[in-house]
Amino acid sequence: MIRLLTFILITAVLVFCTVWFANNPGNMTIVWLGYRFDGSIGMVALGLLALTVVLVLVWRGWTMIANSPGWIGRLLGSRRRKKGQQALTMGLLELASGDVRQALKHTRAVDRYLEDDTLTRLLTAQAAELDGNNDAAKRQFEAMLEKPDSAFFGLRGLLQLALKADDREAALDYAERAHRLRPRNPAVIVTLFDLLLTSRRWDRALSLLVDAQKASVFDEQELTRRRALLITAKAEDAIAAGENAEAIKLLRKALSASAEFTGAAVLLAGLYRDLKQDAKARDVVMQSWRVAPSAALGTIYRETLTGDPLLQVKSVEKLVATNPEHVESQIVLAEAALEADLWGVARSNLEKAMASKAEARHYRLLADLELRENQDGAKARDLLIKASHANPDPDWRCGACGAETDRWVVSCPSCHSFGSVDWRAPLRVHQDNTAKSPDTRAKDPVALEQDGTVIDHDNDGAPSPTDQTSKGNQPAI
Ligand SMILES: [Zn+2]
Repeated sequence: MIRLLTFILITAVLVFCTVWFANNPGNMTIVWLGYRFDGSIGMVALGLLALTVVLVLVWRGWTMIANSPGWIGRLLGSRRRKKGQQALTMGLLELASGDVRQALKHTRAVDRYLEDDTLTRLLTAQAAELDGNNDAAKRQFEAMLEKPDSAFFGLRGLLQLALKADDREAALDYAERAHRLRPRNPAVIVTLFDLLLTSRRWDRALSLLVDAQKASVFDEQELTRRRALLITAKAEDAIAAGENAEAIKLLRKALSASAEFTGAAVLLAGLYRDLKQDAKARDVVMQSWRVAPSAALGTIYRETLTGDPLLQVKSVEKLVATNPEHVESQIVLAEAALEADLWGVARSNLEKAMASKAEARHYRLLADLELRENQDGAKARDLLIKASHANPDPDWRCGACGAETDRWVVSCPSCHSFGSVDWRAPLRVHQDNTAKSPDTRAKDPVALEQDGTVIDHDNDGAPSPTDQTSKGNQPAI
């Protein structure tokens, strides 16, 4: 409506002006720079009007181009982006090559050409970190926390810096915050889990395993192993605090999750033994003996037996019946038979055990037998010499660093690896002279290192499933 009125008004003014100029004709003469122009007043007025319209149109066209995000804007923008991306690529390449100075130079170009400062901050922080300027890197990562898009990356950067500085409390805080932002990020879950272990926050670590399961960070077997370890760690704390009922409850839970977990079985059987509940202790050992017999369990079983040695042998036979072919069954029976002067039983079981494997303890038992049965001191001495050269006895040892502990503990006291202590033989290094002739070795130094020296992690009989995990970074139960 307003447009229509404006149109009518403009038309009326134009008609009025035309009529007025027609009724009032006049001439105009302009002489300028040697030129002469003669025209009517109406023509001059029309010319001025046309010029004004043209100027207005030109002005409007220019402002539209300058202000709109049109093709010129797009052209300029894409050129800037291209330059920024080029600078970013070069910055990353320089960073990878270790040239911090060049990387920082490109960072400035990234800052100039790219509107988003996240990339600049990340590049600057990494260059500063590489340069050893952790404070500058920290400032950049902290600035990244301000934007929701870059906050996670800022936290990850801060987490790495805190770990590098061995500030585990700060690292734990950053890891928790990063995990809240991205609960399914596997790297953060693994780091957070390790940090929770070193700060002995077992319950929080247990709840984190739920997220780990959702994010498929560990397979089912590893999840079960970690769960059993954490529950046993809680039990360890309960035993230390004298809360035996709670410890028993937790250890039973750990064993129901992982029946072959020797550490939990030994803790539980040992606790029952200390509480003078011998029948319960023997019951735990028998349950565990079916799946994972060990000298540690055999010792606890025999410690709960008192009285007539012959009756003790009968009781040990019941235990052995749960896993009769295992070498530990033969050894524990030989020990009990030796105590009861049953030389034949002791000898036959020892010989069976030594046919598959000969450890120092086997030779010691045989020497004892020779001394007691035959009073043969010379033979006993020979056997003890053999014992000193034989495979070392298994014991509680860390699979990560090889340190020996006097009992099962959830974290290695030496290298602090979680769940790395297990009942195992020590790492054994021996020269395998049959591997290659000396001539071949001289020509092949790599073979000398790899084949000549055999690092053997010899355990009781077949390797247990937990041994497989102990070979990597992950410690075994
Ligand atoms: Zn260790």
